[in-house]
Amino acid sequence: LERTLILIKPDAVQRRLAGTILSRFENKGLKIVGLKLMQVTKELSAEHYAEHVEKPFYPLLEEFITSGPVIAIAAEGPEAISVVRSMMGSTNGRESAPGTIRGDFGVSRQMNLVHGSDGPEAAAREIPIYFKPEELV
Ligand code: ATP
Ligand code: MG
Repeated sequence: LERTLILIKPDAVQRRLAGTILSRFENKGLKIVGLKLMQVTKELSAEHYAEHVEKPFYPLLEEFITSGPVIAIAAEGPEAISVVRSMMGSTNGRESAPGTIRGDFGVSRQMNLVHGSDGPEAAAREIPIYFKPEELV
């Protein structure tokens, strides 16, 4: 079994899509092992998106991800990392296939509703950013 970090991003929370998005992962059969509503700070954003901090779009990404609460989810299942990534769709909502979360609910490249760890190393790095060990079941 794998564990992965999912974020329901501020746009999705603000648009009242959190339950709909969480249901998709539950319906797929992933097990929730951690869950919290929280505000991402600038410091947390820089830690999470360390690979993007130097990129030209980072100031806008920081503004977006800190614009309102997110829901952080640690999810577990067989090949959970790639299962979640395929359910999310590609980064840009306009290019995401119908049937994916980004493909069904958005047209933005930045406000793209959901984050999922993009590999085992990312999952191992990201889950502890959002959850203390005692917050995971
Ligand atoms: P995430 O890491 O959030 O799961 P991703 O892996 O599909 O998304 P990344 O390339 O890691 O995409 O980019 C991280 C996030 O930064 C994107 O989800 C999006 O919100 C934002 N982003 C990426 N590229 C751009 C861009 N060119 N302009 C504006 N925002 C961008
Ligand atoms: Mg990414």
